[in-house]
Amino acid sequence: MYDIRKKIDFLRKELHNHNHRYYVEDSPVLTDLEFDKMLKELEKLEAENPQFFDPNSPTQRVGGSITKSFKSSSHRYPMYSLSNTYTKDELIKWEERIIKILGEDTPLSYSCELKFDGASINLLYQEGELVKALTRGDGLQGDEITNNIKTINTIPLKLKGEYPNFFEVRGEIILTTEDFNKMNLRRVERGEPIYSNPRNTASGSLKLQDSSQVARRPLKCFIYAVAGDELNLYDQFEVLKKAREWGFKVPNSARLVDSIEKVFEFIKYWDSERNKLDYDIDGVVIKVNSLSQQEKLGYTAKAPRWAIAYKYKAEQATTKLEGVHYQVGRTGAITPVARLKPILISGTLVKRASLHNSDQIEKLDLRLGDKVYVEKGGEIIPKITGVKEVQRGDLSNKIIFINKCPECNFPLKREKGEAQHYCKNETACPPQQIGKIQHFISRKALDIDGLGSETVSLFYNAGLISNIADLYRLDKEKIMPLEGMAEKSANNIINGIKKSLEKPFSKVLFGLGIRFVGETVAKKLAQVYKSIDKLVLATKEDLINTEEIGEKIAQSVIDYFSNKDNLDLIISLKSFGFKMESSTSQNSNHPAFYEKKFVVSGVFDAFSREEIIIEIERLGGISVTSISKKTDFLLAGRGIGPKKEIKAKSLKIPILSENDFNKLRKS
Ligand code: AMP
Ligand code: ZN
Repeated sequence: MYDIRKKIDFLRKELHNHNHRYYVEDSPVLTDLEFDKMLKELEKLEAENPQFFDPNSPTQRVGGSITKSFKSSSHRYPMYSLSNTYTKDELIKWEERIIKILGEDTPLSYSCELKFDGASINLLYQEGELVKALTRGDGLQGDEITNNIKTINTIPLKLKGEYPNFFEVRGEIILTTEDFNKMNLRRVERGEPIYSNPRNTASGSLKLQDSSQVARRPLKCFIYAVAGDELNLYDQFEVLKKAREWGFKVPNSARLVDSIEKVFEFIKYWDSERNKLDYDIDGVVIKVNSLSQQEKLGYTAKAPRWAIAYKYKAEQATTKLEGVHYQVGRTGAITPVARLKPILISGTLVKRASLHNSDQIEKLDLRLGDKVYVEKGGEIIPKITGVKEVQRGDLSNKIIFINKCPECNFPLKREKGEAQHYCKNETACPPQQIGKIQHFISRKALDIDGLGSETVSLFYNAGLISNIADLYRLDKEKIMPLEGMAEKSANNIINGIKKSLEKPFSKVLFGLGIRFVGETVAKKLAQVYKSIDKLVLATKEDLINTEEIGEKIAQSVIDYFSNKDNLDLIISLKSFGFKMESSTSQNSNHPAFYEKKFVVSGVFDAFSREEIIIEIERLGGISVTSISKKTDFLLAGRGIGPKKEIKAKSLKIPILSENDFNKLRKS
């Protein structure tokens, strides 16, 4: 007989292996298409057989869980800092202290490693399964971010080979320079302020509330240590080798050496080679190799005595600050950018440096003409790290952050708790207007055939459009006279615009570009509120009580609809023929279903899972994914997980069978 359980196990194992081949070994054997096909098959089987749920299945890597606040949890073994040094002398002294404790004749060898510059992570494995992931926090306790960590493909959810029963694996979560730069390019395109460096972006990513957002970030994990009571391991170099065998990513840069001179060679080698790495390091770490020697050496209050970090000075140069200009993004965020006297830093000509925000300018107390220190890490845009005091610019030339928008003169505003200033003239500030229209037509929003960002700028600059609604007032005669516009493309554009009127409500809602309303939130709002009219009327409390919507999003939606220009835009869009409601036209708003929240779980006879959800929504109900006090019914199919049932019972939520459901809808 065809055994579903076996098939599921087989697919999971295969997918874990292929994931490892792809992300850890960089030598995939399947094409992306083949991999996706296999994953889809597993997803389907798991959905149909919820009794075989596995929190570490490869399907769990896409994320989806929302954590509003992360639980803190103690480390079984503290996560120490490392003592730092910048000189060889100090390294020699460090070795002398070690010899003093261990004795003159003890043979010493060192594991020389790169010091990856990211966010540290502590991974707990039980019987080879990832059970918990903690941030370093204060070293004694960290935040539990397990669901977010599971989305990182270089972290095995199940270990290979032989491993200790219960132990911890420690590593660094990083973003490669290339991935980081790509993320920033996308932010520039969307008019959002850019991230300042890979390290902060990596550590910020780990604390996102929505794990599916984390899944979209190209985070990687490099392993450098383990901790546990029964490791059966004898030296650090063996630890690195074992970690590789268990399926972790451990860069091959580590070297085992037997003298401090060879440690110096390692340091020297990476001082020049580190620029060629695809990720940031902030130095190297030297560790006494033998674990029993490590134990004898022990720890100070803050750091192990058996390890030390040698830090490189960042590549720096000084040049003159010639000016500051301000960029305005689609959302109105203002980014100050320094104009520098061009200078060569590690092979690139640097003319601009990011100043991030007004606090940064204040902190540096910048003045025009200052000689400034410029540092270039892996980022595209270098940063100013300080002012050369002896060569200050003119004291009268203090840089005062602008208080009006450079593009539209509107007074700038900075909200409490935000670092960025904003131009709130959302509907009439040119870069914001262009950006909003560009967002509206973009692929994930209305995806208008034939129309691209450049054409939008062209139309805007020719005075043909100044907001989203104007797109629908265009006709062929208006755009034909524009330079380079052929009849065929003009036809395409006008047709594409006309066709976009049929796009679903959730896409239009996303296209409006309300701050914090991304694709997923737009879908949720469209699903719950059904029409723009209801959404406009929703109060802040209503919004906050909506699943997955927090205070920040709720406020932003309220702000958006309090602006008369935005309401006018919506009225116009409707008048052009946009329906602005979820397609539940045959919606019959059954009294037993209307606005009731259903959790659907298990397998049904007459419906697929999707079909039953569509039916609930058609009758006016709302489908939600997890059980809470606000749930009205648990619709339980065959093979529903016992946890869901227990939870529903404890909250006294009625449980409906497929039969009950059918009776209810016919009542
Ligand atoms: P620090 O934060 O400067 O005290 O340095 C300690 C941190 O360096 C650890 O928490 C790790 O996250 C990080 N680190 C990066 N690479 C290594 C490595 N090869 N060995 C040990 N720690 C490392
Ligand atoms: Zn403006």
